[in-house]
Amino acid sequence: MKSRHLVFLGPPASGKGTQGLRLARENHLAYLSTGALLRGALRDKTALGQEARSFLDRGEYVPDKIMIPMVLEWVGEQGDGWLLDGFPRTVPQVEALDSLLEVKPLAIILHVSDDELRRRVSCRLECVECHRVAREGEGHLCPECQGKLEPRADDAAENFENRLAEYRRLVIPAVTYYCDQQRARIVNGMGSPDEVYARVRG
Ligand code: AMP
Repeated sequence: MKSRHLVFLGPPASGKGTQGLRLARENHLAYLSTGALLRGALRDKTALGQEARSFLDRGEYVPDKIMIPMVLEWVGEQGDGWLLDGFPRTVPQVEALDSLLEVKPLAIILHVSDDELRRRVSCRLECVECHRVAREGEGHLCPECQGKLEPRADDAAENFENRLAEYRRLVIPAVTYYCDQQRARIVNGMGSPDEVYARVRG
């Protein structure tokens, strides 16, 4: 992986968290999942959590005016390399990130069929402490930090369908933008996490 500025895009449950975290660790990149950050803020009842709650509850995206300054601040604090999981998700977010950087990021886009996404959310768990993703049947405690594994509230069927619609409406134009600039790698996200990771690493 040559680029050290990476963004992961993909529909909900496409494996952004699992693959992004693994790639970041292997390449010693700072890692930020904006979804996990927002869920943590909700749980800790911070001001950000209060602002984001109604959007997350409805399966809608949090407005750019909240997301952009927050993520740009994080990026500005990082040194050598970083990986963003779940940002950018709109064309204004792509443009804001680009405007900050001399070396533009490379986008990795995970492609998974809708049927497989629905199957994955139906059995997905997340650690409430470190936000590692797990599956039903893998126990009740996170293998990494011993935190509690729970289903994500926003994986309920109706919420999930809204997020999928938001993905089509807002993220697909962002994907097109990266493709037009030849800064996108579309990766087949079907198969086991190891199989997908082998493709992600390239
Ligand atoms: P994720 O964990 O990536 O599936 O994100 C969960 C939810 O957090 C999304 O459905 C959005 O409501 C919100 N979210 C995360 N990242 C962003 C972003 N870049 N822009 C807007 N909303 C976001």
